[in-house]
Amino acid sequence: MSDWQKTLRDESISTLEQLHGYVAERFGTDVAEREIDVQALGPAFDNFQMRITRESLSQIREVGDANWNQFIPSVQELEVVDGVIDSLDEDGDSPVPNITHRYPDRALFLVSPVCASYCRFCTRRRKVGDPEKISLKEYESAFQYLAAHTEIRDVILSGGDPMMLSDQRLEYIFQRLRAIPHIEIIRLGSRITSHLPERVTPEFCEMVQKYHPIFMNTHFNHPDELTPAAVASLDRLSKAGISLGCQTVLLKGVNDDPRVMMKLMHELLKARVRPYYIYMADQVAGGEHFRTTVQKGLEIIQALRGWTSGLAVPQFVIDSPGGGGKVPLLPEYVEEINDEEVVFRNYEGKRFTYKQPKQPIPVTVPGIAAQQGVVPIEVGKAAKKKRAARRRKSANG
Ligand code: SF4
Repeated sequence: MSDWQKTLRDESISTLEQLHGYVAERFGTDVAEREIDVQALGPAFDNFQMRITRESLSQIREVGDANWNQFIPSVQELEVVDGVIDSLDEDGDSPVPNITHRYPDRALFLVSPVCASYCRFCTRRRKVGDPEKISLKEYESAFQYLAAHTEIRDVILSGGDPMMLSDQRLEYIFQRLRAIPHIEIIRLGSRITSHLPERVTPEFCEMVQKYHPIFMNTHFNHPDELTPAAVASLDRLSKAGISLGCQTVLLKGVNDDPRVMMKLMHELLKARVRPYYIYMADQVAGGEHFRTTVQKGLEIIQALRGWTSGLAVPQFVIDSPGGGGKVPLLPEYVEEINDEEVVFRNYEGKRFTYKQPKQPIPVTVPGIAAQQGVVPIEVGKAAKKKRAARRRKSANG
């Protein structure tokens, strides 16, 4: 057993009784009695596995803070309002076990059913926590599917957390994927740098370099997660040549505050991690109490864009419920757009006008629009004239 596996086993909390004891010791017996009602939390624990690593526990500063909320079970998980089990219908786009193929040139490959710490808002809780939920015996059909689909050039290893696999198993997966000529990019979706930074071992960093280009999408939701140990693990990954991005989930009671998000983005950049996405929390059953409004997300983007470096501004997206994929959302900057000019406001609310070019330029790319079944959008006065002419023509037969 490696050191990180031993740390995970010996120093994590994985029962409500252990959690009660930990909280009593750290915050006092009265707090433990009030916050960790073992009886009442039992059903939440039964619904979704709990494990909190030493590192995740160290990120909690006080009861009810951002990192407490991310990892400590709550009876609110049992108040199902309108959440659904598979809110993104990933299983609907799964042609073979462990693969979700939703977008044209990339596929998701679920390789691990477990995580170091379990986040109480997890979208994939239906698949995560129980080793039976993602069968490691079912890799073969996934490899065959990826080899047969030459349009797939980018594979995202996810789960659970792929970094919970041993180096031997990860190397086996990398080798199999690198034997498929059309797969150009391998991505790891992993929260390990926040949950169990010691997993990023020198041996892993040496091994992974044989299989570049490898990207890692980390997952940090609050600046307090960027502990010295987490930052050091990110440094090791960077030095191993892995390109690092971060996916953040907008969560009520965790990071639904522009100042917190600004600080998070700055801390990520200092650790050489490029902020990639801020997601709206998915409509997953058991996670409703983490959801906030789309307006809050737009307010956060507006508070970042222009006020800090563009490097620190990720895309704000909703992963469409039911499986429509990610859709980017932007605050409204454009006030008017026509064939002559575009009127918009900058980040300070000041109005500017950009003159359109004089020569007529088509506003869509017809080939791409036709190929994707997109209805071309025509804007401004010229479009209105064209539509009126079409109506007249069809009225005249
Ligand atoms: S690390 Fe990811 S997959 Fe695991 S519990 Fe957290 S959000 Fe879910």
